[in-house]
Amino acid sequence: MTTETASRVPTEPRNELGALESAVAELEERPMSQFRTVWEPAAELRRRATELGAEEVVQRAMLLQAGVLLREGETGEGGRLAHQVRVWAEQHESCYLLARAHRELSVFYRVVGDFSDSLNHAVQCVAFLSEEVPPHLRARHLSMLSVALDDTGSHADGKRRAHEALSAAAGDHEMVSNILNNMAYTAVEVGDEPEARALVAQMREVQARSGIRFSANQLDTMAQVELMGGRYEAVEDLLSPVLADLVAANEGDAVAECQLTLSQARRLAGRFDDAQAALDATRKVCTERGMDGIGARARQEQAALFAATGRFAEAYEEHRAFHAAAGALQSVQRDARARALQAVLEANEARRASEHFREMAHRDALTGLYNRRYVNERVPALLLESAARRRPLSLAIIDLDHFKRVNDTLSHSTGDTVLQHVAELLEEAAVGSAIAARMGGEEFLLVYPGVDADEAAVRCERLRLRIRAHGWEPITGTLPVTTSIGITTAVEGRSTFTALLAVADRNLYAAKRSGRDRVVAG
Ligand code: GH3
Ligand code: MG
Ligand code: MG
Repeated sequence: MTTETASRVPTEPRNELGALESAVAELEERPMSQFRTVWEPAAELRRRATELGAEEVVQRAMLLQAGVLLREGETGEGGRLAHQVRVWAEQHESCYLLARAHRELSVFYRVVGDFSDSLNHAVQCVAFLSEEVPPHLRARHLSMLSVALDDTGSHADGKRRAHEALSAAAGDHEMVSNILNNMAYTAVEVGDEPEARALVAQMREVQARSGIRFSANQLDTMAQVELMGGRYEAVEDLLSPVLADLVAANEGDAVAECQLTLSQARRLAGRFDDAQAALDATRKVCTERGMDGIGARARQEQAALFAATGRFAEAYEEHRAFHAAAGALQSVQRDARARALQAVLEANEARRASEHFREMAHRDALTGLYNRRYVNERVPALLLESAARRRPLSLAIIDLDHFKRVNDTLSHSTGDTVLQHVAELLEEAAVGSAIAARMGGEEFLLVYPGVDADEAAVRCERLRLRIRAHGWEPITGTLPVTTSIGITTAVEGRSTFTALLAVADRNLYAAKRSGRDRVVAG
């Protein structure tokens, strides 16, 4: 009973953190098709993690929200959030979050039509993936890279990455289907009908095996393949379920895309009235949902439809309207991009400022060495690390001998100069991972991670000689400057900072008592 109570109390916050972490992981792993179901729980997680001070979970939840915003057309806001998370992930060297943030940024730049930046982030979203990331998440990142490569015309590389994504996604039918769909779409774009047909055949195999239904996007790709071959009836058959609302359209623009494809097929088949009906439907959806990109392409199709029916004046007007819409679209995209870039810039400036202040808070104003606050934070962490790696850690307190004399016979400012020179010599002595700090007054500390007692004694003896041999004459005249040093070592890091300081201090006192200007260890 007692044991249970005793063990439960301190572990409770950890349990809550664990619960938040698994909840956020579950959301991250949800299939892409369910992205809309992520918003509410992500917002809730973000709130709870903020209360708990679980900053990494807060950032992961924010990134999930960014993903939803980007897919729902809230491009600027989504991009801004993704940038924020990326800055945090960089500061905290969180590779997992960094990989994910780069992936969302790649989506962002793709949506705003900046394919080279999209590729840049896609490369990093793969580069920051660690080995431990589960294969289906790796597949998403590789697939993003593949799409970005295709967008920039590197189709051979795109294909290679798509195949890597396919093998990582093996077993995840939805992901496999999406990758095949992207590949087929690229094949349509480059006009490779046989390749496109082969990929569609593979999509059908996956569907037959898994029973999952094609999404509106996938049906649209398949319809475009039929359009390429002039099989207009097949286009009609493929897309009618979408129009009858039988297919869940995941991405907001999928239905409008399908209607546009249908309109093209009907125009090419000579069914102009039906083509107009499909086009009217497209334009209605575009206006309702503010989908300007497809809206502009609908105008282009309208121009083609007018021309096909001999209404050339209207075709010309529509053509001009298309160009105006496309131009306006570009400037909207430019604005969104500029705003997002501005957000990054501000986030970077804030980071530099906070780094500057943190650094200042850790430094001693007179000497520029680390201060007591810093070692109080740092040494316990170094001790844990030493314990984990079973390495020693040595520590030395350095105190100036008869320093009061310098102040009294010369001046306080001369005393300050002496302290600054000693600080420089300590800094010189703190090679590698060693840390030099001023603990206060004329007392300094050297921390030697990984250095055993013998080596620490050798280094401190060298330091003592170096300080007394320094060219003090111009500063203190005939008054010598010497130090007494007390050392201690934590074998395999097994000690506390306070205990180590107490032993080092005792040794320092012994050095003072036995005549000063010496090192005492043990
Ligand atoms: P001991 O060899 O026993 O250490 O003698 P000490 O005179 O060095 O030791 P004590 O602790 O008696 O005096 C330390 C002096 O250091 C007292 C104080 O005025 C001086 N001191 C502390 N901080 C500063 C500083 O920032 N600047 C200057 N100039 N003097 C300081
Ligand atoms: Mg002293
Ligand atoms: Mg002292």
